[in-house]
Amino acid sequence: MALPVVAIVGRPNVGKSTVFNRIARQRISIVEDTPGVTRDRIYAHGSWLNHEFSMIDTGGIDFTDQPFVDQIRMQAEIAIEEADVIIFMVSAREGVTDIDERVAQILYRAKKDVVLAVNKTDNPEQRQDIYDFYSLGFGDPIPVSGAQGTGIGDLLDAVVTKFPLEKDNEEDDTIKFSLIGRPNVGKSSLVNAILGEHRVIVSDIEGTTRDAIDTQFTDDDGQKFTMIDTAGIRKRGKVWESTEKYAVMRAQSAIDRSDVVLFVIDGEEGLREQDKKVAGYAHEAGRAIIIVVNKWDLVKKDTYSMQKFTDKLRSELQYLDYAPIVFVSALTKQRLNVLPDMIKTVSVNQQRRVQSSVLNDVLLRAVAITPTPTVKGKRLRVYYLTQVAIKPPTFVAFVNDPELFHFSYQRFLINQLRDSFDFSGTPIHLIPRQRK
Ligand code: GDP
Ligand code: GDP
Repeated sequence: MALPVVAIVGRPNVGKSTVFNRIARQRISIVEDTPGVTRDRIYAHGSWLNHEFSMIDTGGIDFTDQPFVDQIRMQAEIAIEEADVIIFMVSAREGVTDIDERVAQILYRAKKDVVLAVNKTDNPEQRQDIYDFYSLGFGDPIPVSGAQGTGIGDLLDAVVTKFPLEKDNEEDDTIKFSLIGRPNVGKSSLVNAILGEHRVIVSDIEGTTRDAIDTQFTDDDGQKFTMIDTAGIRKRGKVWESTEKYAVMRAQSAIDRSDVVLFVIDGEEGLREQDKKVAGYAHEAGRAIIIVVNKWDLVKKDTYSMQKFTDKLRSELQYLDYAPIVFVSALTKQRLNVLPDMIKTVSVNQQRRVQSSVLNDVLLRAVAITPTPTVKGKRLRVYYLTQVAIKPPTFVAFVNDPELFHFSYQRFLINQLRDSFDFSGTPIHLIPRQRK
């Protein structure tokens, strides 16, 4: 299911980031630390009651090269394009300002639900002051204090009631994938080449299009795919669409909505920093990943070219050691026909379930090969492994003391799982739990 998107807008210093950080949920602990990934705080996950959502702090998108008024306008426009529900934030300290009114003007034009939050309502007396904000025309202002954490629940109550109704069922038999990569690596060309080879069922699936274009197609076996295309967007040419942070945010949003991510690299240019950031996000989000090296037609080749490129990639992206690599050309269509089968395979692996009895055979064998480590005279004991989730496969390991369960031994167990079952293309999460 695509997660609903909530954006927080408002002029600087009203407390958007403060409230954002209060709502942002900690990611579940995962085994691997991903080197090279800077956590982009403008985009995060939140949850309230039984609702999950993504959240954007538009204030975190930096347009410092733009005049102030334009910055405010661009931030509001991004919220309008991206979000299902907008939190319009103002401050009880300053009351209604000119800039608040200007933001309100932009938001009127959007056919999006807006919830008005009055931040910095730090004590009960200030609740009187919130009535002024009715003049902004967005109904009941909700008093909150990001600093104290009060009112956040009421705010989220108001937000979640405006979420679009979920309609998940009929989408289940389709594999959702996206092509992610830097500008110019050839995403649009790949999209067109892939669609050119297949029977397209629907484009622009209603309700799921923000301004990404979703296209459904089937392969020869009748498997349905939904391609989430973000590549075309940049080409419309609004100023903010070309900023790198915005591009990264778009990629993150597409990754969130995908089961499988095709991580596209330019074969001629190799890997860049921006590539690593986005790949790291897909990895942490638990998406199945296929590394697609495009423009292979441009590379002067000898017998070892693929092996050399592979070795270099593997050393630069060690945490993606499970991701298959394929060398293609959108131009000559070389090897594009293998992509649907690869997507199916990694999608199956991402949903693989292993019975506890079988898992524990693997565990016993693993411990026999490499005994558990001893730290300061105390030996780690791994009593039991059980799978608690798919997409990605997630295992809980019951141990005597999680402190003793070092990364290297976790990694060893994960590799043993990979040797025993086909988990190629999917990350594996391992969660240590202390057995009481
Ligand atoms: P943003 O620019 O809208 O993202 O605002 P920030 O979250 O960076 O907050 C701006 C300033 O307001 C910071 O100094 C915060 O500590 C302060 N602030 C945020 N929330 C509250 C609040 O609820 N009450 C008070 N008194 N100060 C707050
Ligand atoms: P995007 O920004 O990632 O969507 O990249 P585009 O699909 O717009 O491609 C960028 C440029 O690379 C265009 O000039 C394409 O014609 C070219 N291109 C894309 N794929 C290939 C390929 O496989 N081989 C060659 N030689 N050029 C390609």
